[in-house]
Amino acid sequence: MLTNMEKLTIVRVGNVISYSTLHQIGERLLDAFEGTIQDVQLTHHESPVTGSIDAFLLTMILHTEFKGHTLGITDADLKTKDEDEFYQAIIGGKNPRNDVAVVSTRKLSPERIQSDSDYRLLVDRTLKVCLHEVGHNMGLTDHGTYTFAADGALCPMSKGEFNRFGYQGYVRAVVDGRGDRFCPSCKRFLETMHTRAVSLH
Ligand SMILES: [Zn+2]
Ligand SMILES: [Zn+2]
Repeated sequence: MLTNMEKLTIVRVGNVISYSTLHQIGERLLDAFEGTIQDVQLTHHESPVTGSIDAFLLTMILHTEFKGHTLGITDADLKTKDEDEFYQAIIGGKNPRNDVAVVSTRKLSPERIQSDSDYRLLVDRTLKVCLHEVGHNMGLTDHGTYTFAADGALCPMSKGEFNRFGYQGYVRAVVDGRGDRFCPSCKRFLETMHTRAVSLH
């Protein structure tokens, strides 16, 4: 592996979440990956105010600017060129040709953020989508069926079906159902991969 996956750069694109929240997300990611990611760096990417950005383009921009294992969190809609209109705006994705994942908070936000609990809900959802996309960066694949972690919540790699729920329903049924711990089989995979990476040093 050319990239050191143990280091993750989290890039805030836009301003929807505060820097201290970004820090919190970084800490919770470190906890969930249990040593397979050891170092998180936080940074900010200046971008013109925009309602939406092409997801693939954003991964390329972040790859050029930051190199290596990177997670971008934006408040803009992430657009894809998928023929199915439903998939033209996504909550998260990764570029298979580099190690950059991107997450959009746009569809994760409650309609209005009026209280601490609204904001907490947004942060929790953002974290869970981040875990899923960074999980892909680490080599984990989607669970087609609902798979639970030891704490009884869905493993962050659980995917569910978009079309059955619609976006709002999907976020409530699947994203909110996920916890911040991986299931035993994902954990085993991460440990094995980590052990191999260490022995290659
Ligand atoms: Zn996935
Ligand atoms: Zn899992």
